[in-house]
Amino acid sequence: MNLMYQSTRSNSEPITASQAILKGLADDGGLYVPVSIPTLEIPVTQLSKMTYQETAYEVMKLFFTDFSEEELKTCINRAYDDKFDTKEIAPLVKADGAFYLELFHGATIAFKDMALSILPHLLTTAARKNQVKDKIVILTATSGDTGKAALEGFADVEGTKIIVFYPKDGVSPMQERQMVTQKGDNTYVIGIHGNFDDAQNGVKAMFNNKELAADLKEKGYQFSSANSINIGRLVPQIVYYVYSYAKLFENGEIREGEKINVVVPTGNFGNILAAYYAKSMGLPINKLICASNENKVLFDFFQTGIYNRNREFILTSSPSMDILISSNLERLIYQIADKDADKTLAMMKALGTSGEYGITEEMKAQMKDFVGGYASEKETAETIKKLYEKTGYVIDTHTAVAASVYESYITVADDKTKTIIASTASPYKFTRSVMNAIDSECNHLSEFELVDELSKRSNTAVPAAIEDIRFAVILHDAICDKDKMQETVEDILK
Ligand SMILES: *Cc1c(COP(=O)(O)O)cnc(C)c1O
Repeated sequence: MNLMYQSTRSNSEPITASQAILKGLADDGGLYVPVSIPTLEIPVTQLSKMTYQETAYEVMKLFFTDFSEEELKTCINRAYDDKFDTKEIAPLVKADGAFYLELFHGATIAFKDMALSILPHLLTTAARKNQVKDKIVILTATSGDTGKAALEGFADVEGTKIIVFYPKDGVSPMQERQMVTQKGDNTYVIGIHGNFDDAQNGVKAMFNNKELAADLKEKGYQFSSANSINIGRLVPQIVYYVYSYAKLFENGEIREGEKINVVVPTGNFGNILAAYYAKSMGLPINKLICASNENKVLFDFFQTGIYNRNREFILTSSPSMDILISSNLERLIYQIADKDADKTLAMMKALGTSGEYGITEEMKAQMKDFVGGYASEKETAETIKKLYEKTGYVIDTHTAVAASVYESYITVADDKTKTIIASTASPYKFTRSVMNAIDSECNHLSEFELVDELSKRSNTAVPAAIEDIRFAVILHDAICDKDKMQETVEDILK
């Protein structure tokens, strides 16, 4: 029996995993969720002997049940290969009492690679399985990291085009440089005058535009999404929680069945939702600690039960978390609303019209395993500096938000549970902010001088992803207004 997928916004006919991956977003604007979360039956003693790729298969086969073993294993082996600079794929580093789960060893040195290196393979396999003849157009909004990881994943993949929109003044210099130097005949990168939410709303509007879809169908195109609204992004992110738990066990850090905490620097709520799914599968996780930067909509939501996006959008040193509409929260809302699509739809409608919605006390009670926290810009910088001075280990700004929130949490909660902190980007991706935190005297240096300085001080090699863009040619310079995104897409596809 296949595990089927249902929209969070209506009770339309459930579809298979491969169909859900192809579609990205449901026709009613909802997100696809599995009708039930499968249980991880395999004991940790066995998991602890597995490679990342083997673990990935054990997890993904439970969700993507209409893929054959061979199809799934091919996707996995093509994704998690020597594009990653370590055989472990997602290594754990112990520093100052916590375990940093380094998710930035892929091609674009941010955690988005964990899912976006496999999504193109899942998608092209899904297209084949469903006899799709159209060219697939991947439309993506990015707060900086998804864009490059998706471009890298889809560049020159036959039967696809990829179009990425990013906030022109809302990403780090390295993030922008990575994107605008992207090679591949099927890649398009466009800066918009607006922020990430504008980009995401524009993309969602195109997905929901039936006329546009019909028009494109005639030209032989169909849209899909590389954003974490695609279930094909979410499931691969469950893998590293299972894998790292098994590694903690193997290294003698925890007993079988011992619970751990997970701290996740959060923006669109995709990464932490994957941890929640892992917990729902039976992985012994105690608290899911959701760390926000100064755009602390989620922190307020966990405090009050009210989600309110009516506030100033703040540009911070952790731009990949500069988000006021966390799309994947909808999947949690649906879950805690007892899978009531009408209720979920009403709340999402309210978010669209008035910019806020509230949940009931019963719903709030179901989120008791989540802890919300946030870090100010100052706390984030101090955390980088303190950890560096104490241990020599350098973390990026996003990871520092999580580390700072974790520190406040243990001070208040006096919780000694072993804890994994998701380390979502290499410090080399946010060099200026990181070096500024460590030593503000360096601020006069150029972007790449800072890279070399960081390498010297942290005693780590400059990642290939950074060396590659040091002298790369700029290939994309398109810019458009936030209300011209559709015209831009039509222009590309005409
Ligand atoms: C995308 C991103 C995040 C936020 O992850 P979500 O799944 O959107 O919550 C955090 N840190 C970095 C470096 C990212 O690229």
